[in-house]
Amino acid sequence: MTHEAGIPLGIRFKLLSDTPQDSAAQVVGDVVVGDYRDLDTLREFARGCDVITFDHEHVPTEHLRALEADGIPVRPGPDALVHAQDKGVMRAKLDAIGVPCPRHRMVTDPQDVAAFAAEGEGFPVVLKTVRGGYDGKGVWVVDSVEEAAEPFKAGVPVLAEEKVDFVRELAANVVRSPHGQAVAYPVVESRQVNGVCDTVIAPAPDLDEALALKAEEMALNIAKELGVVGHLAVELFQTRDGRILVNELAMRPHNSGHWSMDGAITSQFANHVRAVLDLPLGDPRPRAKWTVMVNVLGGDYPDMYSAYLHCMARDPQLKIHMYGKDVKPGRKVGHVNTYGDDLDDVLERARHAAGYLRGTITE
Ligand code: ADP
Repeated sequence: MTHEAGIPLGIRFKLLSDTPQDSAAQVVGDVVVGDYRDLDTLREFARGCDVITFDHEHVPTEHLRALEADGIPVRPGPDALVHAQDKGVMRAKLDAIGVPCPRHRMVTDPQDVAAFAAEGEGFPVVLKTVRGGYDGKGVWVVDSVEEAAEPFKAGVPVLAEEKVDFVRELAANVVRSPHGQAVAYPVVESRQVNGVCDTVIAPAPDLDEALALKAEEMALNIAKELGVVGHLAVELFQTRDGRILVNELAMRPHNSGHWSMDGAITSQFANHVRAVLDLPLGDPRPRAKWTVMVNVLGGDYPDMYSAYLHCMARDPQLKIHMYGKDVKPGRKVGHVNTYGDDLDDVLERARHAAGYLRGTITE
């Protein structure tokens, strides 16, 4: 989708991909298949690139530092990206710049988790491995010292957090260029099912204007303080008592910004490309009163193409984005966007299309 945004600008992409079957490898012309964890592979790949960016944040920080030392611009740079790679580093930095977060500290073993619980409201406690998690993997909600053993088995550092009693999850998406120009998308509501993002509503319904502004300012401030270049998604909890707390950061186009492909004047992908190239950023404002994105998960139908006829005929506003992935149950294989003036109607149309593509709705 980043490549798609570069096409009208004539930007040529070279892709480092794990396998030839990866979504991007199916559409980018110049593909190198290799391991992003191997520095020699990265160095060989980087030769001839004007600038490097990412669609995930798992490239080792020290390798990115080596590429920078070789003179290759890396955007976002490793000093910023480390805050999206390591939840411990991220929490320490957000504390230092005064950004509100859930109560947290690093923990060493299950007894230490019990001590952390006792310092606050007790169990449940949320435990997170500091690196490598995604879509809820690497996150445990534990109710007792016995349950707290599991996260330590991998032998990696573990972060403990209070379990926030949130009313909903929000995301503040911003894009910042090396020049320091920045734009903020409207704050969205993000609904998760089993730890996986299911639905995004733009803008977040019934969000107090002052709170929305505060969330946008917070995200812009984080982008500036961390020196982010490109897209930054700030995942937020809205608490019962009307506060917003930062859950985590992603420094790349993000699922909570997929609505912008069809719902904003400039999509997150187009603005990410512009930022990485240090071009002026585009208008992030919405095109419609409401835009809803629903992820399409793999279901019973390996071939979703046959569902297009029904979906497109039912909703002419619908935009389908499929990723060319093999359909496996529960795997994110695409998303749909649709928009309009009546939120209930827009939600129904988006859910219907995603359910029909998956096979959970049949008429
Ligand atoms: P991931 O790396 O998988 O994105 P997150 O830190 O975003 O991990 O956690 C996944 C989900 O777990 C969140 O979207 C939220 O629903 C829940 N969660 C994470 N941290 C907390 C917390 N401190 N309190 C309550 N729920 C949480």
